[in-house]
Amino acid sequence: MPQPPRILVVGTSNTDLVTRIPRMPRMGETLIGHRFHMGCGGKGANQAVMAARLGAQVTMVTKLGRDTFGQMTIDNYRKHGVDTRYVFWDDEASSGVATIFVDDEGHNLIAIVPGASYRLTPAEVRQAEPAIAGSDVVVGGFEVPVEVTAEALRLARKHGRTTILNPAPALPMPDELFELSDVLSPNEGEAETLSGVAIHDPESARDAACRLLERGARAVVITMGERGALLCEAGGAAQFFPAFQVKAVDTTGAGDAFIGALAARIGMGEPLARAVVFANAAAALSVTRMGTQVSFPALQEVEDLLP
Ligand code: ADP
Repeated sequence: MPQPPRILVVGTSNTDLVTRIPRMPRMGETLIGHRFHMGCGGKGANQAVMAARLGAQVTMVTKLGRDTFGQMTIDNYRKHGVDTRYVFWDDEASSGVATIFVDDEGHNLIAIVPGASYRLTPAEVRQAEPAIAGSDVVVGGFEVPVEVTAEALRLARKHGRTTILNPAPALPMPDELFELSDVLSPNEGEAETLSGVAIHDPESARDAACRLLERGARAVVITMGERGALLCEAGGAAQFFPAFQVKAVDTTGAGDAFIGALAARIGMGEPLARAVVFANAAAALSVTRMGTQVSFPALQEVEDLLP
């Protein structure tokens, strides 16, 4: 058996509190809902769990509050075999929560309180330097403060590790962060914000990717929802990989499944183009089922879908 890829994710952990109601309440109105369920979420957490389900050895760097949701979150990481040595605890803030209402027509209304998730500090990331140095791939995003992600990517580069930056939610990015990205992987909307290019097909996505490469990223992978994903490497031609044809039921978390799978395969030393096809397959399977982490496929399912 080859060594499993070692992936380190710096990011958020949230608990999704999902309430199903017949219709959205009016201001001040109390409604009786149909159902309620809780689920573990947050982009970082989802990416970590996806990579772990695909066989990677995953370390999570995140911060939780000392409450029921923090406990649930850490139990969930342990259940998936994720290393929690660098899960930090905040004595003041609550754990991150997303309160979600979904009505009978499928409309939703969401309020996120990042809480402890957003209180992760660069100093805490530096404590994780030994784990960063021992990883094959380090994954960062912007649900934690930019300086936290920047510190993680700097340390990864210092130790010659491969970096993946998922610039979500999109924000103005300093050149340093482009230069620290071995793989910059936005979705279409984020790529538009970062590049200033409107994306409506693979051709315009290629133009956007070129702009992002000019800013210093070594490779760019733009996820394009049901269309698939576009890969553009510095000095190479763009390659478009169509999405796998599936019946989509719930696309929540598809982007996180894609990033987690991409990290796992790059960590195995797979060429980028093959890793993108694998990630397309993993993400496609995730949209065929309801929910976020619970919809993520196992390794065998992804292999069965691949040509
Ligand atoms: P995000 O969830 O971040 O907005 P996307 O919508 O771009 O990300 O989706 C990420 C990936 O999920 C896509 O590149 C594709 O591989 C897969 N995907 C999303 N929607 C579908 C779909 N309807 N059918 C098949 N694959 C999909």
